Amino acid sequence: MPSIERKALIKELYKETETVQVTGNYAKHCPHCESKSISRYGTQKGEQRFKCGECGKYFKETTGTVLGRIRKKSLFLKFQDAMINEEYCSIKKMAERFGVSVPTAFNWRHKILLSLPELNCKFQDETQIDDIWIRYSQKGRKGLEYGKKRGGTSHKGDSNYQVKILTATNSTHTEMKVSNIGRLKKADIQRSLGDKITKKTILISDKHKSIQGFAIDNKLEYHSFKASQHTTKDGKGVQLLNNIAGRMDTLLNRTFKGVSTKYLQLYVNWFKFKENSKNNIKEINLQNEILSKKYTWDLFSNIEGIYGNFIKNHSARTYRCPQQQKFKAQNWNQNLAFKNSFI
Ligand SMILES: [Zn+2]
Repeated sequence: MPSIERKALIKELYKETETVQVTGNYAKHCPHCESKSISRYGTQKGEQRFKCGECGKYFKETTGTVLGRIRKKSLFLKFQDAMINEEYCSIKKMAERFGVSVPTAFNWRHKILLSLPELNCKFQDETQIDDIWIRYSQKGRKGLEYGKKRGGTSHKGDSNYQVKILTATNSTHTEMKVSNIGRLKKADIQRSLGDKITKKTILISDKHKSIQGFAIDNKLEYHSFKASQHTTKDGKGVQLLNNIAGRMDTLLNRTFKGVSTKYLQLYVNWFKFKENSKNNIKEINLQNEILSKKYTWDLFSNIEGIYGNFIKNHSARTYRCPQQQKFKAQNWNQNLAFKNSFI
């Protein structure tokens, strides 16, 4: 089909006729000063506007959320639905399918990943734990001397080029966190997954000094085995975890042909969300989830800064700032944004 006809068809399919209902029911406090003394104050472009009784500023329910600055809101929500409920698919394919540019599809994907609901759960019983290794990558970081090739380092084994995704899983729930680059230490485990572990957690892992140390520090039951033996004497192993590691590798390296370390946690969150929602019967209203996250825009506009902090604090790599697309930050809530930081 000629591309003009194709574009027209896409437009027809995704006509902006349905307006997104933003009721204002989720505006509970002022995003500028967090005051709860707010009142309705007319509408703007069909959306309920509010005034804060404390600081006097105006805002809408979408202020600070990723939906706030999206013009094609209903298309954006369809894009989100496809990301959550369909197979993983490349940015290029998504751009073609939704009739948006590749950079728009790229930004939309990251905005959606930043506002995914958290399905929180603490481990109460046998839990397999290990670090999954992914090579450090600066894919797409324009203006950097070593550009793309840097991701394809030939360093074998554990090195300062291996990004660690600390992963814990049982048969119903999985937690994953990009913890550090280089050797995983006790402190990395504590910082990354410490709040998901309880006194009742029983850790199962191959012989990993740091995990053992973490278990001892936290007085946790711990079962380990030599990697060559695959299981403990009574048959405890890390099959679930190995399965996740295999699928992560395929996803990152084949489906997406490599993911920049800067965005790795976002893709980890995507995978984690899809895994965990398989076991979650509760209906999640994704639009309301987006609206309840008032700091997502700040996170989105600070991704480079958050990544820079991660490189400086948790790796032996040198942080280099690339030429980058600048986004105007809201900046009203930077502390909150960093507190909720994704790395
Ligand atoms: Zn206020």
